[in-house]
Parts: sequence; structure tokens; C-alpha cells
Amino acid sequence: MQNKNKFHVNLSSLLRGNIGDIKKVTINDVELSTHNQTFNNIIANINFIRIDKSIIARGEITAKTKIICSRCTDETVQIISSNYEEEYIPHKYDIMGFDNLIDNYDYNDDIDIQRLDKRNFVDLTSLFENSLYSEISIAPKCKEHCKGICINCMKNLNYEKCLCKTP
Ligand SMILES: [Zn+2]
Ligand SMILES: [Zn+2]
Repeated sequence: MQNKNKFHVNLSSLLRGNIGDIKKVTINDVELSTHNQTFNNIIANINFIRIDKSIIARGEITAKTKIICSRCTDETVQIISSNYEEEYIPHKYDIMGFDNLIDNYDYNDDIDIQRLDKRNFVDLTSLFENSLYSEISIAPKCKEHCKGICINCMKNLNYEKCLCKTP
């Protein structure tokens, strides 16, 4: 079950407000699927901070996800957490009291700046997907000292010993 609308946040009152205003949002116990990976029990705390001509979103997210151990191939649930920061500009600048023609505002190419939709809602789905997915190790382990599988007899050495002489 996806709850995409839970990832949509209305930022229009923050855009109409003052520099330094903060909107705190907590997203609790939702699920998200991406790149063949499902994240459950997502908990995200976000501070949206109004700066001069944009809004900075800064926060943390944790979730549970199933991984296949790269050593013993057991499936286990891992807790993943990530921090993120993203910048959003309004759909039109007049909501912030600026001329809409200031569009050539100094973009910093290093930061990914997103434009809000017509109603000045932010959709956090891809931000969350990317920050969670980037935290999954390319060679995940079920536990720190997983003993793996014996390449001779294929026994899972976390559960049983074998008599093979591993080189
Ligand atoms: Zn393992
Ligand atoms: Zn063995």
C-alpha cells in the first residue's frame, strides 16, 4: 500500500510568511517502494525553513527494509536512516512579494533546486526514495560478523560448523 499523498506538504503559508519562519512536519509509519525495494515504517522529521527567495527542507528519515545478506544469502530486515537537504522555489515568486521576473535568481549548480507545483505543494516522494535507497549497502550483511557460507559444503556457518578446511 502506497500513501503518496502523505508525502505532499503545502508550503504556501511559509512562502507568504517571514524569513526565518519554520514549518515542522512529521511523517509517520508510511510505506514507499522504489527500485524493487520496499521501505516500511518510515518516520521522517522535516524542518522547512523560509530563507530569502526559497525554502530549505532539512531533515532525517528512518525506515525498515528487507535485504539479502551478501555473505550468507539470508533475508533480514535492516533499519536505514538518512539525512537530507533540498531547496525549493515557489511556483511563482509573487507569493513571496517578488516580481515574477526574478527568475534568473543565482542558481547554485551544486544544489538541486526544485520548483513547487501550482498550489505550492512539495512532493517529498523522490527525495525520500533517493535518500533511503542511497543508504543501502551494495554488499549488505545480515550482521556485522556474518560467517557466510562454506564454499565447499554450502552450509551456513552462522548456524552450523563444517569440517571442510577452508583455505
Ligand atoms: Zn549473513
Ligand atoms: Zn564446509
